[in-house]
Amino acid sequence: MKVRVGARTDIGRSRKRNEDSYLVKEPLFAVADGLGGHKGGDVASSMALQMIESTAAAADEENLVRLVERIKEANHRVLERGDTDQDLRGMGTTVTALLTGDGKAHVVHVGDSRAYRLRGGTFQQLTEDHTLVQRMVREGKLTEEEAAAHPQRSIVTRALGVDEDIAVDQLTLDVLEGDRVLLCTDGLTSMVGRERIQEILQSEAEPQAACDRLIDAANRAGGDDNITAIVIDFVPDQLGGKAPDLMAGVVSGGPQTRDGEWGEDATAAMSTVRDEGPPVRRRARWRRWPIWVAAVAAVVVVGLIGARVYINRQWYVGDARGKVAIFNGIPAKVLSFKLSHVQETTDIDSARAKRLQFWRGLDDGITADSFEQAQVIVDRIRQDVQQSSTALGG
Ligand code: MN
Repeated sequence: MKVRVGARTDIGRSRKRNEDSYLVKEPLFAVADGLGGHKGGDVASSMALQMIESTAAAADEENLVRLVERIKEANHRVLERGDTDQDLRGMGTTVTALLTGDGKAHVVHVGDSRAYRLRGGTFQQLTEDHTLVQRMVREGKLTEEEAAAHPQRSIVTRALGVDEDIAVDQLTLDVLEGDRVLLCTDGLTSMVGRERIQEILQSEAEPQAACDRLIDAANRAGGDDNITAIVIDFVPDQLGGKAPDLMAGVVSGGPQTRDGEWGEDATAAMSTVRDEGPPVRRRARWRRWPIWVAAVAAVVVVGLIGARVYINRQWYVGDARGKVAIFNGIPAKVLSFKLSHVQETTDIDSARAKRLQFWRGLDDGITADSFEQAQVIVDRIRQDVQQSSTALGG
């Protein structure tokens, strides 16, 4: 049994840089999605793949152990460089790799890139995303559908370059002739539904054409992120080989495609691009968002306390169910919440008070600086009402 391979990476339609990398070096295949600051993302993803490239020998157990060791080493190197090089601060990367041979395939995986297998009509995800939302799905807090649409779905919980220790998921599969494996970054799976991916993989026989169609589908759906796909077909011996223009080794980044330009030929997709776009700080974002939430909450709380203190110091004299009353607060409503309450009700009829020119403002509330001042106002209203009653002979 041999393999036939197609691969492509694309910048997508909204990012200024392509931080994805891929590795095609039979029998080893891998995708990596870089995350991080100014230049970090593509450095991290290509660094990691260059480090594991040397383990592309054969799919024996020994090599698998070496592959996992190299991933752990790559983790240290990415972490180290991110700490020492100011430009690369905070960089990290995912890695999802497939090592084939001897009728077996080993999948090793860290992060939110994915491996899928299509066997006959069965399309199966082989990896589990190391993301916050996936963890919540496992804990029963979210459904798969909710996770797929969750605004924080790209927050990764495991990546190379984050912690000293890294757990690497491993899976060994038997492979059959006709099996097709897809390795891809989240730029594909966040834009294109699982059914559509399966449909493309089932309807397109050529692995390179399948990759191209997957990437076009992601771009048509918006292309919010960099997109990378490797399609590996397990075929009879006489059919093996990679696409004629497919470069062996690590390919980092993609062409500087812009709106309407995507869909270029595979050769263009192989070129390494290191443009200087604004930073895409995925990792920085997941680390910082709790701080922002806390900061916004603090501002809101301080604002509410401030408003409460202010309101509690305000007094006015107004009408409460037909009687003149002293209110604590301000004579206003916000979103139908009253900002005052009655502090003291008097026996003065407010209708009679309002008949007096001077106290007409009672309906709107006559503001006072203190409770005492409000009491003075009430006394004056009482006097005025009594005088007018006397004058009228009442
Ligand atoms: Mn991505």
